[in-house]
Amino acid sequence: MITGSTKLLGVIGAPIGHSLSPIIQNAALHAAGLDYVYAALPVRADALASAVRGLYDAGIAGFNVTIPFKTAIIPLMNALSEDARRIQAVNTVVVEDGRLVGHNTDVAGFLAGFAERGIALTGKNAVLIGAGGAARAALWGLLRSNISAITIGVRTAAKGAALAADFAADGDVRAVSFDDAAWIAACSDADIVVQTTPLGMMPHTDAMPPVDMAALKDDAVLYDLIYTPAETCFLREARARGCETINGETMLAAQGAEAFHLWTGKRPDVELMKRVLREELARNTLRY
Ligand code: NAP
Repeated sequence: MITGSTKLLGVIGAPIGHSLSPIIQNAALHAAGLDYVYAALPVRADALASAVRGLYDAGIAGFNVTIPFKTAIIPLMNALSEDARRIQAVNTVVVEDGRLVGHNTDVAGFLAGFAERGIALTGKNAVLIGAGGAARAALWGLLRSNISAITIGVRTAAKGAALAADFAADGDVRAVSFDDAAWIAACSDADIVVQTTPLGMMPHTDAMPPVDMAALKDDAVLYDLIYTPAETCFLREARARGCETINGETMLAAQGAEAFHLWTGKRPDVELMKRVLREELARNTLRY
């Protein structure tokens, strides 16, 4: 029950009506018996600073941040976590001793996909498909886990080069175009293949990322950040070849679980979060 002492959490974005976070977070908060409520808070693209000030003044305990504010919110923070600073994106804000602290739980969420399966990353070769926002979090997560070398495959050379340059001091990172022979060679040498583009996402489920599946190692691990559908044709083909596959559900639930922990100091029931997520996705899928 919401009372006068219930603490407020939420997610800001534009648009925000499609967000799954209120359903996942409220289920976990309720199960943990915590007196919080989590709301979707639409914020106009030109009103970020005043909205953040207003939420702070109204006593919000913390909030998630989504498109288009993940980078624009950085100057409004009093401090940043290491992950948020490295990838220059904030997806979780904690109000701590009157200060706004920006975190990025996408990195931990991404790595949870490997940890859940007991897959070690140290010393492995990886390829990353795409160079957008999710790729930034994945790239830093891989580098933070002492991966040996990473090749980023892109269709827009300038974006790939900029992403690789941002992390050049952190490890062996390079970007190549999908039509470059070096991309084909990197894919055939990869232990880990991370797919971060929207190719294959609902409703365009037939779209395949530019990877020659036949050239991949038999024991390569393929990770697609997409969670609708639960199995993209990229993962389906990889599974048919006998490769281990990971979809984006764990990342989505785990980034939320990390935010929950930052706000409440408690670990939520992640399995419950995943179950609620799957049920809601199944309902949403029916609408496509
Ligand atoms: P984004 O910032 O728009 O980046 C998309 C990337 O994909 C860009 O590098 C873009 O290339 C590339 N791309 C798009 N269409 C392409 C095409 N037809 N051919 C080749 N490359 C293409 O998007 P994002 O925020 O990173 O999200 C990407 C995906 O990750 C989405 O499917 C999203 O649902 C998923 N995601 C999942 C989670 C999770 O928790 N599981 C979290 C975040 C994101 P250009 O630069 O050339 O445009």
